[in-house]
Amino acid sequence: MRRRHLLLAPLATALPAAAQVERVLDLAGARITLLAEPGFDEAQLQAIEAWVRRGAQAVAGYLGRFPLPQCELLLQRVPGAGVKGGTTFAEPEPYMRLRLGQDSRAAHLADDWVLVHEMIHLAVPRVPRSQNWLHEGIATYAEGAARVRAGLNSAPRWWAELARGLPQGQPRAGDRGLDHTPTWGRSYWGGALFCLLADVQLLQRSGLRQGLRQGLQGLLAAGGSYAVAWPLRRILEAADAAVGQRTLIGLYEAMKDSSEPVDLPALWQQLGVASATGEPARFDEDAPLAAVRRAIA
Ligand SMILES: [Zn+2]
Repeated sequence: MRRRHLLLAPLATALPAAAQVERVLDLAGARITLLAEPGFDEAQLQAIEAWVRRGAQAVAGYLGRFPLPQCELLLQRVPGAGVKGGTTFAEPEPYMRLRLGQDSRAAHLADDWVLVHEMIHLAVPRVPRSQNWLHEGIATYAEGAARVRAGLNSAPRWWAELARGLPQGQPRAGDRGLDHTPTWGRSYWGGALFCLLADVQLLQRSGLRQGLRQGLQGLLAAGGSYAVAWPLRRILEAADAAVGQRTLIGLYEAMKDSSEPVDLPALWQQLGVASATGEPARFDEDAPLAAVRRAIA
């Protein structure tokens, strides 16, 4: 599924006020106002509510709290079953809009990653469009880590997803670095690759005590969220400062203009991740960075 994320959208794209089912959910220290297009039956609405609670709790578990004290979640009712896409907006208050199949039941929502992805966007300040790779990278990477942590996905499945997905984030011919190559692969998976490398380095340098998760928690504590627009460097510096390192800025300097690929096979070997197509990953607990891998997920 193509992952989309826009900074602005006309208000007309919001649901018409007269055609909404509204539920206010107080959870994970936040108030989420759920606005759904009419047509979902009561059993569906209950499944939707449980799905939103699960997602919010996974995000709060990873970040220490839900990223915003309150926000709206708009659900558009579309043909089919399951989540058909999501977008996070700020206009002027942050809100999420997801397209949800009209035939969706609890089973279709059990494996969904889109809602958690959008909720992670809420934890990162808005950036210039050309640097959207950081936003999509954090949302892609932290969504996975948060869902494993919450028991919504297994570690072997997630590492296999990373092993399958991250090669799409490698530079291709004509690449000019993360800041200058706004392709789908470089934005989502190139950004996620940046996050994985950052997490590994942060954990290594802190004796496994602090990784990207603690950096993102520090970013939130410093006032960073989707409610504000910050330069990319300020975001990375706030996360670095929270863990007393310069790892994120250093990695950014190394990758922003570089078309040098990352040696992923070597990284998997060091982390002790072996994966075959369609299979959950197998782990080598004797690998040099096996402890880092366990600390990540
Ligand atoms: Zn996104």
